Amino acid sequence: MKKNLVFAANWKMNQAPADAGAFMRTFLGQYARQQDRRVLFFPPAVSLHVVVQAIKERADLEAGVQNIHWEDKGAFTGETSGSLARGAGARHVLVGHSERRHVFGETEEETGKKVAAALRAGLTPTICVGETLTQREAGLTIDVVKRQLRAAVSGVDAAVVATTIVAYEPVWAIGTGKNATPQDAGEVHVAIRAELRAIAGERGAAVPILYGGSVNRSNVDALLAADEVSGVLVGGASLDAEQWLAIARSG
Ligand code: PEP
Repeated sequence: MKKNLVFAANWKMNQAPADAGAFMRTFLGQYARQQDRRVLFFPPAVSLHVVVQAIKERADLEAGVQNIHWEDKGAFTGETSGSLARGAGARHVLVGHSERRHVFGETEEETGKKVAAALRAGLTPTICVGETLTQREAGLTIDVVKRQLRAAVSGVDAAVVATTIVAYEPVWAIGTGKNATPQDAGEVHVAIRAELRAIAGERGAAVPILYGGSVNRSNVDALLAADEVSGVLVGGASLDAEQWLAIARSG
């Protein structure tokens, strides 16, 4: 039986405040605390306050933002810093999501600066890594995820790396309906765990490694059973409260 599971909902650019409120009412009405897991919500920034207010009595539920800037403050119109997000009640932030890397051209260096900024602000970064289909077909998957992980934590003390969360999200599986087989996911997760131990020693064993990429209520149990899979990061299937309830209770 796995412990310390993490179920993370990435709502992307969906769920306005009113929708987020309705979602949380449905979810909270049916989701009882389970000792072996935490459930994280990553709403769009404009709906963060609604989620934070909804979960304020629940230690097993936490909220975060989907992105931050690497600077702490200043003239960066349209951006949100880690400390602004923390002040609005966020405890977590996604860093290096494949949409940030591939749609917005975020570099590995920028991802590293965002991880450092998150930790300065008291946010737990969920560091997303994953290969493209071309990289997988060229046999580069493990090299790519290790390189992305190393770059993301390059400015961080080993002891602090142990406080982060890592998410393996193959780019070809995100929002496509295709997901890695549990065996493929397990192989990459085992390699990530080895890399975390190489970076942070035994403390690297404590970092949750989530799988993400077209997870839904039908495939979640098999993915959670794979080696070193400590939870899931879910986009599309987290937008429907009933489906998210089913996923958050699985494993
Ligand atoms: C994601 O956005 O992190 C994700 C995994 O999306 P989806 O579940 O829709 O593939």
